[in-house]
Amino acid sequence: MAKKQTESLTLEDVRPRLVRTAFVPALVAVTDEPDYVDDETVLGADDVTASKVGGAPFLSKEAPAPRCGECKQPLRFVLQLRRSDLPQAAQASLSGELLQLFWCDDCQSSGGAENPWSKGALIREVALGEPIEPGEEDEDDEDDEDALSVTFLRDWREVEDYPSTLVESLAAALAVSPKSEATRERLEALAEAMDEAELETLDGVKLAGWPRWVAEPETVKCKCKTPMQPVLQLGESAVVVGDGGTTWIVACPACGKKAYFCQQ
Ligand SMILES: [Zn+2]
Ligand SMILES: [Zn+2]
Repeated sequence: MAKKQTESLTLEDVRPRLVRTAFVPALVAVTDEPDYVDDETVLGADDVTASKVGGAPFLSKEAPAPRCGECKQPLRFVLQLRRSDLPQAAQASLSGELLQLFWCDDCQSSGGAENPWSKGALIREVALGEPIEPGEEDEDDEDDEDALSVTFLRDWREVEDYPSTLVESLAAALAVSPKSEATRERLEALAEAMDEAELETLDGVKLAGWPRWVAEPETVKCKCKTPMQPVLQLGESAVVVGDGGTTWIVACPACGKKAYFCQQ
């Protein structure tokens, strides 16, 4: 067996093992209320089949408006991604035409957000069948006079993404043990070289890549025990979900199951 101690941990040598491809969208904020138009928000209309945060979700007979699995109230629509909008390389992470995330503000605020399998949120993948007209199922439609506020996710571009430069994160990414003092020192030198080269973990909204941790790094394990990988990051700087913080949708590379987790 090769001696791990002699393995090079210089940035030049390990960079190919650290870099991951991520995809970052242009965020296009749209309102239907002329008074709310500003430098960052344009006048426009909603589109139920688009990739977006907020607005109205695509709903059909097969994929009706969901209710909370805990308290049974209607879930709030957070986001949907349309597979055909995504770059070719990212399309495989979706098994349906639309990936949708719904959220129960009440249940998720009272502890659900820490549980990736909480029934207070719903991740589902649906087909683009015959839509139900918005409002048909919406009991609150009569008093719903809020202006449209939707952010479309468009024009995804490919970027390089790197793990956190915490020693533990680098050790995990490179599959080395950070226990020995010598290895720690080399990982610290690597972290410094990455900082100097400005190789960072991207904040905001992105597909794939590495998680930009808000708190301690963590791993969500699938019910089949496989560590799950990030599919989508909703960074706190770009999108507020629930009580804030950053939310990730993660997928199991073994069985395809999806879950989410949050950090504040
Ligand atoms: Zn609930
Ligand atoms: Zn699994």
